[in-house]
Amino acid sequence: MIRRKFIKKGFINLGAVLISPSIITSCKKDDPIVGKSVIVVGAGISGLAAARQLKDKGFEVTVLESQEKVGGRLRTNNSLGVAFDEGASWIHGINSNPITDLAQKAGMNTFHTVDEDILSYDIGGALRSENVFNNAEAAYFDILETLMSNGSATKSFSTVFFEKYPQYANDRLWNFFLSTYMTFDRGDLDKTSSLLYNEGEEFDGIEVISTNGFDLIPKYLATGLAVQLNQRVTMVDYSQEKVKVTHNGTISEADYAIVTVPLGVLKQNSIQFVPDLPAIKQTAIEKIGMNCVNKFLLTWDTAFWDDVQYITYTPEIRDKFNYFVNVKKFHPSVNALMTFAYANYGRQTEIMTDAQIIEEIMVHLRDIYGSNIPNPTNILRTKWNTNINSFGSYSFTAVGTEMRHFEDLAAEVNNKLFFAGEHTEVDYFSTAHGAYMSGIREAEKIIDLQ
Ligand SMILES: Cc1cc2nc3c(=O)[nH]c(=O)nc-3n(C[C@H](O)[C@H](O)[C@H](O)COP(=O)(O)OP(=O)(O)OC[C@H]3O[C@@H](n4cnc5c(N)ncnc54)[C@H](O)[C@@H]3O)c2cc1C
Repeated sequence: MIRRKFIKKGFINLGAVLISPSIITSCKKDDPIVGKSVIVVGAGISGLAAARQLKDKGFEVTVLESQEKVGGRLRTNNSLGVAFDEGASWIHGINSNPITDLAQKAGMNTFHTVDEDILSYDIGGALRSENVFNNAEAAYFDILETLMSNGSATKSFSTVFFEKYPQYANDRLWNFFLSTYMTFDRGDLDKTSSLLYNEGEEFDGIEVISTNGFDLIPKYLATGLAVQLNQRVTMVDYSQEKVKVTHNGTISEADYAIVTVPLGVLKQNSIQFVPDLPAIKQTAIEKIGMNCVNKFLLTWDTAFWDDVQYITYTPEIRDKFNYFVNVKKFHPSVNALMTFAYANYGRQTEIMTDAQIIEEIMVHLRDIYGSNIPNPTNILRTKWNTNINSFGSYSFTAVGTEMRHFEDLAAEVNNKLFFAGEHTEVDYFSTAHGAYMSGIREAEKIIDLQ
């Protein structure tokens, strides 16, 4: 589904100018760099992009990754015979988006998910008319365009929104928009900034979903790189000339280090920095929010649902299994739906059993399609909040966040310690393309130092 549709109006596409690697590299000296080494912590798309760019320039690059495979939040589970992307699924706006080109090179196939191919069901299985849905959606986006003028640095989005529009507090359709268009993209309504909820840029063009796995991109980027898997970094000592990185009890050293672990990992202080990170960076780590979006793939022997791309439902509990992606639209032989849980409800799902999850989802589907529909044959699910490799899904502008905090996260320390990752990209945070761009950005900083 399109994220932050409302800011697309009037957006000037700066993306192509900002990120084209060919433009960046053409400005640089062509001589290969000899005898300089870099350790990249984390083999997500940002770390791999940086590593590849540096290796191509002649640096000796080692990537240390805590998990058993590369990709981080670009992670695909193929165990049910269909690609279930546990993290990113969509290329949000394909025009000038660096992921579009990477996807082609990596052999990642995509399908255009049409936002308008949607049905909205209310409690009791009542189908909403297209007009009711479209008019409310348009009114919602109109409000978002102006609501920040009522915002304040200390008030959350929900406080400001419901102070001004109390009539929508118990409106299930409005709560669906607030959940699927705001919380999915940002974070908990009561934590999201009322001033900065629409910050960030977007690429133009259609939304496409990966059909054979987003992890093809990190696999492609990792080709030929020295990636050490199952290596959990616990300390980064940048107090001396060489940076010393401790992983699984071993110390590796290099001229530079790029830390690309997710914001959630930085928030948990899972890595000790010596000396401590500058106060400005610690503040940024604290102030930027980390969302929780969990995804669920359910399969059946036969399909019982409507032949549309999106089936949406408006339950009383706001962030609970309220929309379903019809996987059959792009895999005609696969009877599967993908659904979501966000923010606090998303966190709660992580302590529920598969059987409990199925029961809750089936309450919604049975309300729409009748009590005779069968339980799914299989379920796959994520637990991003308790995942020690990320502690959350992606960063967002929380109450107390300032946009400069993203830049503070991106700032290098002593020209030795560098930071990349989606949470360091002020214009495109929370996305795969933002993460990729951040990796290229940090590699270029190191190249510029030579
Ligand atoms: C549920 C969900 C849905 C999303 N949907 C979309 C979408 O549709 N479109 C989109 O553009 N974006 C989407 N995103 C965002 C996108 O996936 C991320 O922004 C992007 O993948 C982040 O890349 P990264 O390199 O910054 O971080 P990561 O991919 O998280 O990479 C960081 C790496 O560091 C490793 N690591 C962590 N701790 C340590 C340690 N101590 N030592 C060594 N290694 C460590 C991790 O294992 C990981 O591999 C989604 C994310 C999630 C979670």
